Amino acid sequence: MSKLSTELEQAFQAAALRPTAQRYAVLEFLAEHHVHATAEEIFGAVNRYDPRASRATVYNNLRSLAKAGLVREVMSEGKAARFDANLRRHHHFICERCHTVEDIPWFDLPHSAGRAALGGREVSKYEIVFRGVCLRCRNSQPEGGTKS
Ligand SMILES: [Zn+2]
Ligand SMILES: [Zn+2]
Repeated sequence: MSKLSTELEQAFQAAALRPTAQRYAVLEFLAEHHVHATAEEIFGAVNRYDPRASRATVYNNLRSLAKAGLVREVMSEGKAARFDANLRRHHHFICERCHTVEDIPWFDLPHSAGRAALGGREVSKYEIVFRGVCLRCRNSQPEGGTKS
């Protein structure tokens, strides 16, 4: 068994969710490709592997995976929701030019940082969304143009 499939099996077990072939395919796709895919893109990928998969069942499976916490919706306003395998904690970086959503390795916020602002609220999870210009966009700025 590969490392990823062991990880997926364990994730299903921990979430007490039955790993049906399609749920497995959805989670495997997201975990393997490290993409932040829309429901439509996930449907396309699962459908290539299992042409009998209907849009409705793929969407339902996505929803139950999200409910079980194995998949999460990534914040991205004004666009179709993007989904992410939630096996490892990480932050996000959203490029304001090409709208790519990238994973940023996890680091903890100092506990003291948010405590005062949060008051007595109980936090179960958090993530940071950084916004700006990704490396690809930075490097693909037109060359030889007049610099302003
Ligand atoms: Zn970009
Ligand atoms: Zn992510």
